[in-house]
Amino acid sequence: KEHLSERVVNMATSATLAMAAKARELKAEGKDIIGLSLGEPDFNIPEFIKEAAKEAIDQNYSSYPPVDGYADLKQAIINKFKRDNNLTYTPNQIVVSTGAKQSLANVALAMINPGDEVILPAPYWVSYSEIVKLAEGIPVEVSTSIENDFKMTAEQLEAAITPKTKMLWYSSPCNPSGSVYSKEELEAIAAVLRKHPDIYIVSDEIYEHINFGEGHTSIAEIDGMYDRTITVNGVSKAFAMTGWRIGFIGAPEFVARACNKIQGQVTSGANAIGQRATIAALDAPVSKIQFMIDEFKKRRDLVLGLLEEIEGFKLNVPEGAFYVFPDISSFFGKTVKGRKINNASDFAMLLLEEANVATVTGEAFGDPNCIRISYAASEKELREAIGRIKEALS
Ligand code: PLP
Repeated sequence: KEHLSERVVNMATSATLAMAAKARELKAEGKDIIGLSLGEPDFNIPEFIKEAAKEAIDQNYSSYPPVDGYADLKQAIINKFKRDNNLTYTPNQIVVSTGAKQSLANVALAMINPGDEVILPAPYWVSYSEIVKLAEGIPVEVSTSIENDFKMTAEQLEAAITPKTKMLWYSSPCNPSGSVYSKEELEAIAAVLRKHPDIYIVSDEIYEHINFGEGHTSIAEIDGMYDRTITVNGVSKAFAMTGWRIGFIGAPEFVARACNKIQGQVTSGANAIGQRATIAALDAPVSKIQFMIDEFKKRRDLVLGLLEEIEGFKLNVPEGAFYVFPDISSFFGKTVKGRKINNASDFAMLLLEEANVATVTGEAFGDPNCIRISYAASEKELREAIGRIKEALS
């Protein structure tokens, strides 16, 4: 008998990481798998950031950093929020963590009581629902549709609010749909929230810079939202620093203080060298990473064009992040290569085993009609992968 807590037994394994593991397994068996399942830029970390990290090692940044982050990193974060988001924070409102994932877990543990409801517009990032459940909260999914570009409307939000609603969590640009909420859409959402002053917001802006459209709006900028928004961001996506594990929040001071308290007991803070490197990343003008954003946009257009040629794929045009999220429900009930396709998981498995392409089922993101395809891969791989998918389905 395994004597585990109900907490962990009831937790779903990260579907994206599980798919990556399965793809690795098949690769080890000699199969030529193209992995489009992970949310990870395929670029190398920019040289100027590496230099900052090397300098930090030479300068002996090797002892415990302050639990909530080095003072000069917090200042760089404050400058970033001012420059990019028009948000004014003081050092006591900033907490640096081991990736935005830990920032989210801190906030959940700091704010959610058992039974509190957290509204998640679906599709949402895989970990939101599991982190909320870990904090004994109740995820309340609000289903969106491809017709509305996978975005929650103000009316849908209003209908989902109950006396138990504690928070709203969303990402824009969204993982997995690539949707970006416009300023007007966020204003409509804010108008609903103004009627409910006790609801807090987690605005996950980790894909902020990977945006091909009209630009980015932080909901904390909108009238009445600043004092109840936790703005989450990090360096994993825009700076290709996934392995450095640095994320951060700007939040009301009492929330930041609580996150700091949790971190003080759980991790003692984020790694020193990563923090020093992050100062260089955040101080740099966004123009230094523009080449990656341009490249992602090129690939998005390529992938959309190729997928549109496959019958049965329904697509929106993602304005940000590096994923497409096609609705493939037209295949449900059909038999392809002798396999009955009953759901998105069957479809993703078909692509893995018959086309040797790893994607992720939409079920993990709260949308059972779709699959997620990451285009953080080379143009050659993308062309080859979609060619194989087309062939397997024909
Ligand atoms: N938020 C979203 C929407 C993500 O897609 C990810 C990574 O996949 C994260 C947060 C976590 O980022 P980090 O690497 O900083 O923990």
